Amino acid sequence: MKKFAVFALAAITALGAAAQKDVMKRIEEIGKNDNQSMELMKTLTGRFGGRPIGSNAYDNARDWAAAQLKDWGYDVKLEKAGELGVGFNRDHWEGRMYGDENEVLHFITPSYTVGTNGKAAGHVLAEPRTTQEFNNIKSRLKGAWVLVDGESGGWPLLHNDTIAAKRKAIIARNDSLAKINGRKSPDQIPDDQKPDMTTPGLFYDEMVDAGVLGFIQSAPVPLRGLYDRDVVKGNLDFNHLPAVPDIKLDEDQFARIKHYVKQRKNIILEFDIRNHFRMGPVPYHNVVATLKGSKKPDEYIIMGAHLDAYDVATGATDDGTGTVGLLEAARILSKAGAKPDRTIIFILFAGEEFGLLGSEAWVNQHPDLLPKISNMFNRDGAPFPYVAFAAPKSMTKEFEPVAESMRRAYPDFDFVIEEYTPRATPKKAGSHDGTTFQVKGIPQLNMNEWNDVHGHDFSYWEIWHTERDGMNRAIPEYQEQAATALALMLLQSANASKQFPRNEVYTDAPAK
Ligand SMILES: [Zn+2]
Repeated sequence: MKKFAVFALAAITALGAAAQKDVMKRIEEIGKNDNQSMELMKTLTGRFGGRPIGSNAYDNARDWAAAQLKDWGYDVKLEKAGELGVGFNRDHWEGRMYGDENEVLHFITPSYTVGTNGKAAGHVLAEPRTTQEFNNIKSRLKGAWVLVDGESGGWPLLHNDTIAAKRKAIIARNDSLAKINGRKSPDQIPDDQKPDMTTPGLFYDEMVDAGVLGFIQSAPVPLRGLYDRDVVKGNLDFNHLPAVPDIKLDEDQFARIKHYVKQRKNIILEFDIRNHFRMGPVPYHNVVATLKGSKKPDEYIIMGAHLDAYDVATGATDDGTGTVGLLEAARILSKAGAKPDRTIIFILFAGEEFGLLGSEAWVNQHPDLLPKISNMFNRDGAPFPYVAFAAPKSMTKEFEPVAESMRRAYPDFDFVIEEYTPRATPKKAGSHDGTTFQVKGIPQLNMNEWNDVHGHDFSYWEIWHTERDGMNRAIPEYQEQAATALALMLLQSANASKQFPRNEVYTDAPAK
């Protein structure tokens, strides 16, 4: 009887191993011959576009992703992660210069800043830095576009009480320096006595009250557009929106226009910026899809990416390639008939770009699951292929089949299994949703995606939150390879002999 039981168990295990091998083979084939990554990317970026939380585009992408995952047989939930006082939709924007000089203007505005009311044309002034300078141009401020100091990093000009107090103090200092040096030419004034020109919008409130059309700041190319942080702090709602547009203009054009203003040329700038708002509160949701484990349903493998993206482009690589990688891996697993031992949870996070809002919400809403998460995979880096996986020391052999499959399916890419070197648990969450899990002591090992293996001249800096993050920057062969690797890796991790030992990931985790 005992002998028979052992024999039966061995037979079932062998059968299980054979079935698992078949599923791996099917994943390989679907990933290679029927990969939908770029179709999904087309929909995400072309049909919905840039998708900050609070936008219709975000909600549309959320509903679409949820419907896809449901179609593929997943149990899908929209989990509310938070809400904003107001929502934002970006439409068309254009601008030009005419008069003594003619030019089409190259610019962006950050999210959650206001647009114009139709075409807004006006003369140009440089911002004042002392009370005297302000008084000199006071009567010309109405209907003017104002060039402000500093270089844009993508953030809007601040317009809250804290910055107002800081600006007042700088004006007072500039005024007293002007009294001392007022009659000297700039090159006669020692550096430490020059007026502060680094804080833009010193007379922000006064200029708005005087009726300026808006502010224009110099910005490096490619132009980067972020968002008004007051919307997350709860200080922005439909009745408390910024008063005027906040334009970030190509630095070369800015320098030329500043020069024309100095020359007192007759130039007019005209902008038509359609930045629109939604009445709040506007909730934002994580999309959570579950494939229940057949043997250990209360142990988990998490796959994450962030669905939200900045909207001066379409968020194709940050984090479209993560979103698409997650979706395509989910589709492939379902089509291959994968029945993992552990539960796999796919999470498309909301509001990563506004401060890891979705992942923070998820770990806070599911404290009971955290100790049972074996590993959290996250795709939110360079949109490169996966070429290696550093596994926990005692598990490296278990991941060799993934590497074999990958090398067979994609012979032009290498794929190796390495041994992970444990490090201390990070103290603070930071640059991506994975860090939210790391600070909780949850293993967060990713496959390595550090190389532009086939030399597509991709630069992360170029696309990072800029106007260039469009679909032409997502490299098809890399996306397809990565989706296949994710499907294989998720399944193998879910079927592994044990959970990732936490003390093989974090040096300060207790040995199990
Ligand atoms: Zn990102």
